[in-house]
Amino acid sequence: MHSLSICHLYPEVLNLYGDRGNIICMEKRLLWRGIDCSVTPVRIGDSADFTKFDLFFIGGGQDFEQEVLLQDLKGSRKQDLIAAIEDGRTFLCVCGGYQMLGHSYETAAGDICEFLGAIDLKTVAGTQRRIDNFAFRLEEGLGGQTVVGYENHSGKTYLGKGVSPLGTIVKGGGNNSEDGTEGVHYKNVFGTYSHGPVLPKNPFFCDILLETALKRKYGSFTLDELDDRIEMRAHDQVLDMLLKGRI
Ligand code: GLN
Repeated sequence: MHSLSICHLYPEVLNLYGDRGNIICMEKRLLWRGIDCSVTPVRIGDSADFTKFDLFFIGGGQDFEQEVLLQDLKGSRKQDLIAAIEDGRTFLCVCGGYQMLGHSYETAAGDICEFLGAIDLKTVAGTQRRIDNFAFRLEEGLGGQTVVGYENHSGKTYLGKGVSPLGTIVKGGGNNSEDGTEGVHYKNVFGTYSHGPVLPKNPFFCDILLETALKRKYGSFTLDELDDRIEMRAHDQVLDMLLKGRI
């Protein structure tokens, strides 16, 4: 039987706006297809062998929680995460978890959080919080579909030269409300500002992650189709309302 092993990193601190729903969505969409799945929470201070996991989820948190994590990122944790990324393991990282992938985050108080530096990007607190439903179009290589989500962040993220965004903004702020980009796509890492949780509202995005992880593990893999008519009706309705300025 095919299977995926999912690591939920820092569930006790990075868990805003039902981000955990992304894990439930991944689990369900695997089990519905007869693919086995295990979820292992890894909390601050836990020892873990990251080479055992196929897919990592890191949710969002406030500045305070991000600062709490810094201690844990020191030492082998940082190297283990970078190794997992470079090894092509799949990551979904939301907001604070996304910011953590970059070099640093400068808070509004001027504190600099030194993060993983796994991807060439950095974040600086803006003067205004961006709190909105939003939408972005996945980059062509990922299928070009439109993801609907919800963003709530003051951080403005800037990608380094040559680093690919996850998509381009259709409506909302995304990375920095300036350059029209949203999120990051590096190797098999997907970073986004979309809370919500993002996957149940965008089942095609969930399947991109699952298929990426399964392909890495088994060489080639094509997911069976699921009946997503209800999910996509909800998605289309939200997008329509968003584009018409009703939400
Ligand atoms: N500290 C971050 C910001 O406000 C992260 C917020 C979040 O994860 N929702 O930009």
